[in-house]
Amino acid sequence: MRIVLVGPPGAGKGTQAAFLAKNLSIPHISTGDLFRANISRQTELGKLAKSYMDAGNLVPDEVTIAMAKDRMEQPDAVNGFLLDGFPRNVSQAEALDELLESEGMQLDAVLDLEVPEDEVVKRIAGRRVCRNESAHVFHVTYKPPAKEGVCDVCGGELYQRDDDSEETVRKRLEVYHTQTEPIIDYYKAQGLVVTIPALGKVEDVTARAMEALKRVVDDK
Ligand code: ADP
Ligand code: AMP
Repeated sequence: MRIVLVGPPGAGKGTQAAFLAKNLSIPHISTGDLFRANISRQTELGKLAKSYMDAGNLVPDEVTIAMAKDRMEQPDAVNGFLLDGFPRNVSQAEALDELLESEGMQLDAVLDLEVPEDEVVKRIAGRRVCRNESAHVFHVTYKPPAKEGVCDVCGGELYQRDDDSEETVRKRLEVYHTQTEPIIDYYKAQGLVVTIPALGKVEDVTARAMEALKRVVDDK
């Protein structure tokens, strides 16, 4: 399956992607994680991306699309992938369509995670991420680690993302509404969007998502 996950920052895309990717046996491709890996390796791409990320802006399309394309062309993604954080504007969605078309492929579904804005803000404010593995995501109240500041899964150090500050979050939400939300209509026109409420327990949201994706496949 080829799936795009959409939803505001803090909606739980990374959290859900970890479970969905495992259940569906497809790789989880997060452009945010790819940029953060470049930042920690101090690559040129990382340096460029950091200046945009810290301001809450989108990294320019040209480098983002090239990076995403390169990742989607890796051998583990030949039978499908779960995109998280890409595409993030209509130009990126068009570029993805072109790329898939040129390979004779298409998307199966766009899963839209719906979460009220006040909840999203609370989720981001308490988010703590593992330095070793970005899929290990915690929350100070909703999913506290057994030992403060330490990852339950691998013992890595938990940190707060630079762009999870209150001011940057406000900017990221504005960018989401103005630039990313329009992709939902773009994909609605292709009949690909399934929207699920993403409030409640993580496992309940995963079950809702699996059910919604199953319906999409059965309807084909
Ligand atoms: P995104 O990838 O959409 O930015 P994350 O998956 O990183 O969002 O989730 C943001 C924060 O919200 C994390 O701290 C995560 O632990 C927490 N979270 C995710 N899903 C839920 C949920 N269903 N209920 C409560 N907290 C959640
Ligand atoms: P995320 O980890 O998805 O919350 O993304 C963190 C930040 O990385 C965003 O605020 C952007 O600055 C940048 N980023 C991630 N994905 C994209 C994308 N598809 N296009 C542009 N910028 C992106």
